[in-house]
Amino acid sequence: MILETLSVFPELFGPYMGASIMGRAQRSGVFSFEAHDLRDWTHDRHRTVDDAPFGGGQGMLMKPEPIFEALDDLCSRPPARPHVVFFSPCGERFCQRTAERLSRHERLLFVCGRYEGTDERVYSLADDVLSIGDYVLTGGELAALVVMDSVVRLLPGALGDEMSAVDESFSAAGLLEYAQYTRPASYRGMDVPEVLLSGDHARVDAWRRASAIERTARWRPDLIESADLTAEERARALELAERGEGD
Ligand code: SAM
Repeated sequence: MILETLSVFPELFGPYMGASIMGRAQRSGVFSFEAHDLRDWTHDRHRTVDDAPFGGGQGMLMKPEPIFEALDDLCSRPPARPHVVFFSPCGERFCQRTAERLSRHERLLFVCGRYEGTDERVYSLADDVLSIGDYVLTGGELAALVVMDSVVRLLPGALGDEMSAVDESFSAAGLLEYAQYTRPASYRGMDVPEVLLSGDHARVDAWRRASAIERTARWRPDLIESADLTAEERARALELAERGEGD
């Protein structure tokens, strides 16, 4: 997969994209990454990318011309036209299902906003406009990192253990992940559930399923309705959610 960003601060991406799982996956060819500087598509001495809003108001907006010209150029480059993603707090809320959808594209281009906003006409170039949550960030770079991280870990070969992404929150059954523990088995008066030390895989699986349901009921009751549950499990989850309880 090819990942690219277009922003005014391309230098923000290097450390994160080069470290840990992202860095390893890049070095082993799972994906390639390039951060483009929007100012490369300006024509004035000051390399201007912003201007005042028509109709007045506070702050500056990103001008349309550099973005249109950058996308004309980048989208015509081989090997394939990129799927173009813009970021805005007004966009569709990003979630795991969207990460899965994006992970199926050969080339993704993320356009990061700055300032008070972006000239509305540029959104005509977007295949997706995404928000990473109901809060306002200073710029789209963090949003792009969030989305790229969640997409990369879905790519074959990105994680050491191929199963790790399958078992995680929001995958498969649409539940949060179960509680997990490591050594020591007893710490500051808190004991690891006995079943996890038993070596009985069937009991461990049953405990994990119940834990996932309890955690979902407690922290994200809104997920219960669409989760893949038996009638009995759903009744238990709804009962826990109503009582405001979980594990
Ligand atoms: N005035 C805009 C508004 O109220 O919708 C906010 C602009 S924000 C300061 C600047 C840029 O940061 C946005 O254009 C977008 O690219 C990015 N951004 C801010 N919050 C975001 C969020 N929740 N999700 C995704 N991108 C966000």
